[in-house]
Amino acid sequence: MVPKLKDPSLLKQNVCYVNGEWKPAKSGKTFKVNDPGTGELVGTSPEFNTDDTEAAIAAAAAALPSFRSKTGRERARMLRRWYDEMTANADDIATLITWENGKPIADARGEAAYAASFFEWFSEEAPRAYGDTIPATVPGNRVFTRREPVGVCGLITPWNFPAAMITRKVAPALAAGCTVVCKAPGETPFTALALAELAHRAGIPAGVVNIVTAMENTAEIGQLLTTSETIRKVSFTGSTAVGKLLMKQSADSLKKLSLELGGNAPFIVFDDADLDAAVAGAIASKFRSSGQTCVCANRIYVQSGIYDQFVEKFTDKVKGFKVGNGFDDSITHGPLIHDRAVSKVDQHVRDAEKKGGKITIGGQTLPDLGSNFFQPTVIRDMTPEMAIASEETFGPVAGLFPFETEDEVVKMANQADVGLAGYFFSRDLERVYRVAEALDVGMVGVNTGIISDPASPFGGVKHSGFGREGSRYGIEEYQVIKTITLGGM
Ligand code: NAD
Repeated sequence: MVPKLKDPSLLKQNVCYVNGEWKPAKSGKTFKVNDPGTGELVGTSPEFNTDDTEAAIAAAAAALPSFRSKTGRERARMLRRWYDEMTANADDIATLITWENGKPIADARGEAAYAASFFEWFSEEAPRAYGDTIPATVPGNRVFTRREPVGVCGLITPWNFPAAMITRKVAPALAAGCTVVCKAPGETPFTALALAELAHRAGIPAGVVNIVTAMENTAEIGQLLTTSETIRKVSFTGSTAVGKLLMKQSADSLKKLSLELGGNAPFIVFDDADLDAAVAGAIASKFRSSGQTCVCANRIYVQSGIYDQFVEKFTDKVKGFKVGNGFDDSITHGPLIHDRAVSKVDQHVRDAEKKGGKITIGGQTLPDLGSNFFQPTVIRDMTPEMAIASEETFGPVAGLFPFETEDEVVKMANQADVGLAGYFFSRDLERVYRVAEALDVGMVGVNTGIISDPASPFGGVKHSGFGREGSRYGIEEYQVIKTITLGGM
């Protein structure tokens, strides 16, 4: 079955969006995008190279002076119109997301709304770029500050949220008065290009938003975006390994950076928790997008007094899952993005099994459905020597670790080199404060498994990177503070 768009012109094949126009790659090269559920072709997208991307950077640079000089209110209105376009076309955006990413259509609708919410949020932040008036220590001087746009930004986003990872960067960048070149992921270019079409319809001026696509040339485009002197800021969401590479590449041009990198979220359930709520929270946190979100629970620690009961209830919930094609309304979980992801999940499961973990449900690939499917899996009796304890699985595998004391579990939780999200369930108020403060992560969910909200700062510590997206802090990533001193007053 080929999915249908209400507005077929939103599927932009073989063209990227540069300087307000739709352009093929100069080389004429394209790459294929396949539906991860069926393996069938979704379409082909341009294989941009550094030459093509240079043109996009030049367009963003040319558009900057006029765009940055608009008032915050004018930019807010543009973002609001983009929000309205996203909302009016949310069904098609959701269809594109499921088509190229595979997630269930209900999740894709949720992502389309979440993605649009960043336009709404930052349309409200755009007019409020306040500076300070600072009492000088030098007699006769007056000091004040302005928040100015950092300049042209290079944005690099992953495939797991084909719309939201882009809007979470583009919306604050535009609110601040920056112009952007966004390198969309090779796996999911069509959602990104549909967003560009909606930007066009919303009247975003030519050159302000440029979206380029590539598969093979991804690294060379990354190199260009990080070394170009025209680009003053790079914001990247993806793996820690690529984030470190981009940071090294950015050193010579001393760019401002935001890096939203990998996680390995601990999810702790204390004896005093509401058990059913904790099971529901862990299910939501672990299995959303089949475990392919950076804030997914990766290590589930359950205190020994309730361990067996938790394992039973958690496994029962997973029994109710149905895996299949994202467009089938009866399914709860879709495919993984590609077969490499399936191999990694399989390795983690086999490793845990070999080291004494016991699978209570799942544990196998699903070749009858296609090459990208893996059963939702629960493994009990996990130990710290297993790969899942230290590596992000990025798939539908829940490893359940028993623990005895609060001190012990906080230590284990903090052993990871990354620190993005952490979760725990407890009804003891003192413990809630203690553990929330003790976890070495950028975001803590207490008695909830879902923490994403455009109003909340999103970002990590340690090898999960730095910078915050969303919230009133999100816009600061795209601003620089200019200090103005008036002398002889
Ligand atoms: P990845 O780092 O391989 O790729 C992410 C994006 O970067 C893709 O668009 C890819 O095309 C691009 N890329 C890869 N190499 C590049 C290079 N040398 N130069 C420029 N761009 C390059 O990650 P992935 O495996 O596709 O995505 C999953 C990872 O992303 C996980 O580790 C996950 O935790 C992380 N992630 C983090 C967040 C967050 O907000 N912290 C959100 C989503 C995903």
